[in-house]
Amino acid sequence: MIIVTRAGITSDELDHIRERVEALGLRTHISRGELRTIIGCIGDEERLRGVPLLAIPGVEEVLPVLKPYKLAAREFSVAPTRVRVGAATFGGDAFVVIAGPCSVEGEEMTLQTACAVRDRGATVLRAGAYKPRTSPYSYRGMGEAGLEVLSRVRAQCGLPIVTEVLDPRQVEQVAEHADMLQIGTRNMQNFPLLTEVGRVHRPVLLKRGMSSTITDLLLAAEYIMSQGNMQVVLCERGIRTFETATRNTFDVAAIPVLKKETHLPVIADPSHAAGRREFVPALAYAAAAAGADGIMIEVHPRPEEALSDGEQSLTPDEFGDMMATLDGFVRAAGRRLEAAEEVEAV
Ligand code: PEP
Ligand code: MN
Repeated sequence: MIIVTRAGITSDELDHIRERVEALGLRTHISRGELRTIIGCIGDEERLRGVPLLAIPGVEEVLPVLKPYKLAAREFSVAPTRVRVGAATFGGDAFVVIAGPCSVEGEEMTLQTACAVRDRGATVLRAGAYKPRTSPYSYRGMGEAGLEVLSRVRAQCGLPIVTEVLDPRQVEQVAEHADMLQIGTRNMQNFPLLTEVGRVHRPVLLKRGMSSTITDLLLAAEYIMSQGNMQVVLCERGIRTFETATRNTFDVAAIPVLKKETHLPVIADPSHAAGRREFVPALAYAAAAAGADGIMIEVHPRPEEALSDGEQSLTPDEFGDMMATLDGFVRAAGRRLEAAEEVEAV
């Protein structure tokens, strides 16, 4: 349930409304806009039944949130949520580009890729130290040594890091090294993991389960948010359908649907959707045109030698070419590429 306050409410009135709701055993979440403030009430709404909330000074409207997800619902926040990761902000005016190799394979290649993508406009570095692989015989990452590589690469290239966490027991360790925690498609409904990342103060990149509906994705975000971590960015990365020409089917419609349903930022991962490098740029442009807040792209200095996802990885030069064309799509969608603007301003 949300309580909408009247314009010009005083802070004493706001405190009083909060106290009344909290005294009934519910938690509150305040979302302040320029004109009005929304007080989200979290918990057993039955307890509010029969309480004359409209009689409390400063209350203008009391509205139920009818969706199964509450904290993630659009109504819960007066403005789109912005999620800051280093110098990048998801959900603002800028279109954020995350790029990097699928896996951390070593220090030299990670640093080389980081510098290459930074110089071509990426503002967040991606790379997996822990890799979820369908086959146990595939490369499963460097583990903790990979996290240490990422910390050293960040110190040298300056980009903040997003990296995947697979196991609730490793959340603290990964959070020590990462600026943003990635939950992969295979773990979108790993509820203990969602709960654990909800308890740390790190933004979370939540990728859509390959067989999950949009509602499933929003309810997974709700798990994280219900633990107190509201810094969630959603990622459409392709779903499983009968089509085999691409690795997954890029559900471009999920982007405008999610933008309507939630205040959380929404990005897309064209690399895992396409599965083949030649299709990646087209899907990246489609994501920008559909209103995404950013994209995540796999880039490898020598894709043919990659230990994972080489087929879908762009070379740094291909990434640079894609960025040059992407700029036009981003502008047409009313956004800007942060780094591109900075380069122009110089
Ligand atoms: C990845 O980002 O490298 C990855 C494993 O993605 P997904 O979970 O979407 O397959
Ligand atoms: Mn990958």
